[in-house]
Amino acid sequence: MGLEDKFPEILTSRLTDLVAWGRKNSLWPMPLGLSCCAIEMMATVGPKFDLSRFGAEVFRFSPRQADVMIVAGTLTWKMASVARRIYDQMPDPKWVIAMGVCASSGGLYRNYSVVPGVDRIMPVDVYTVGCPPRPDTLIRAVMELQSKIEEMGLDGRSPREPIVLQN
Ligand code: SF4
Repeated sequence: MGLEDKFPEILTSRLTDLVAWGRKNSLWPMPLGLSCCAIEMMATVGPKFDLSRFGAEVFRFSPRQADVMIVAGTLTWKMASVARRIYDQMPDPKWVIAMGVCASSGGLYRNYSVVPGVDRIMPVDVYTVGCPPRPDTLIRAVMELQSKIEEMGLDGRSPREPIVLQN
């Protein structure tokens, strides 16, 4: 009989905590910069706001190396299948931050050509409203995502509803 059989709950919960700790402190964002919000996203990794303080500065332009997609800007229906394909190429577990009102709801450009919120094509974990959201709002979104990841099981599923942040 192994230790797992004798103390299964202790071992499993510690392993879950360890995995969650590793996941939340080493987020690798996939920047989907679609329009003006992308400028604020870039500022977030610059020296003034320094996203690296939160372990999420390793932006990856290959979806296979990323676990959190930051959708920054207006998503058009023409781009929607491309965005979904990039999302599908990211390995599980993966998360999505909708940055700005355009990504969250279509925003100012909500018309026949604009997706009224990226949650129409992929699940969103954190919405940040604002036009554009400031870099510190994006940092808050990352921190909220980290707190969600802390509560996740080994499968990376969150028991919590998506979070909506104000600017
Ligand atoms: S929310 Fe504002 S800043 Fe961001 S993409 Fe839309 S119009 Fe541009």
